[in-house]
Amino acid sequence: MLVVMKAQATPEQVQAVCEHIEMLGFRAHPLPGAQRTAIGITGNNGEVDRGNLESLSGVAEVIRVSKAYKLASRDVKEEDTVIHFEGSEAAIGGRNLAVVAGPCSIESREQAFAIAGQVAAAGAQFFRGGAYKPRTSPYAFQGLGLEALKIMAEIRASLGLRIVTEALDTESLDLVAEWADVIQIGARNMQNFSLLKRAGRQRKPVLIKRGLSATLEEFLMAAEYVMSEGNYQVILCERGVRTFTDHARNTLDLSVIPAVQRLSHLPILVDPSHGTGRRDSVLPMARAAIATGADGVMVEVHDHPETALSDGPQSIYPGQFAEMMDQIERIAPIVGRHLPRGVQAAVAGAQ
Ligand code: PEP
Ligand code: MN
Repeated sequence: MLVVMKAQATPEQVQAVCEHIEMLGFRAHPLPGAQRTAIGITGNNGEVDRGNLESLSGVAEVIRVSKAYKLASRDVKEEDTVIHFEGSEAAIGGRNLAVVAGPCSIESREQAFAIAGQVAAAGAQFFRGGAYKPRTSPYAFQGLGLEALKIMAEIRASLGLRIVTEALDTESLDLVAEWADVIQIGARNMQNFSLLKRAGRQRKPVLIKRGLSATLEEFLMAAEYVMSEGNYQVILCERGVRTFTDHARNTLDLSVIPAVQRLSHLPILVDPSHGTGRRDSVLPMARAAIATGADGVMVEVHDHPETALSDGPQSIYPGQFAEMMDQIERIAPIVGRHLPRGVQAAVAGAQ
């Protein structure tokens, strides 16, 4: 159910409606929009008696949301969600494109700083790097853990990049929430419902990667899990799905972008690195992602991919990343977007 407030409703009226909903034993989710505030109701089994709600002051109408995902749906919030980062120009969603770049794993302080310096110089606003790695083999490199989180916090302090990193389980989630700017939930955890709920109780943005065989509805339901706990700062990320393809690691499903944008107000990024698994495919698919209307890309970059501890074959060189940025910058205006390269200017200005 959704309570649509009148355009001129006051914050006190919104508050009173929320309290009424909570008093009925349900959860109220106020979602301010450009024209008016809508209040999502969750926790109800079946219809909520709309008569009482409709008579509260400031209420325009009470409507039923028929989709399984409610807070993630455009029915509840028409305007695109834009996620801002305090103290920086960086944003995910909206007219400006977001670029997240960095190695698959943080391997050492030197490696992380060398790559971060190069992606910042090319204009990335976000730095990625795994501290906790979901590996197919228990014998493969599992990540540096807290040490990596501390290295990335130093990178934020010295280069101004915002940090995106994966939480693998409830223990690492609390640490990631403490040290990073965006909590990444990996493809293998997209339906780890207890982890999603815990991420929903944090107040940092959550980036959810599409599961290896997830349908669009399952993908949006993962977002709904986070939002149902009161965290509305959710970013989706298409990273390829399993098909019969044998020319690439996965099949990057770019057709999901317009589908997501039709059904949801949440921003969506594309990861062409995991989506293809091949260095030579990353740039073409990053171009295609932007042309398709994605809100940005997440790419793996490594200065010595041949010795990388994870995902070397799909990591692009810093020079290729700079080329990707130039190309994206040129494609962006065709789809009504802009690639801000603010950190680059700040870094150059500091030199
Ligand atoms: C990653 O981004 O490093 C990663 C492990 O991605 P995914 O969960 O999409 O496989
Ligand atoms: Mn990787």
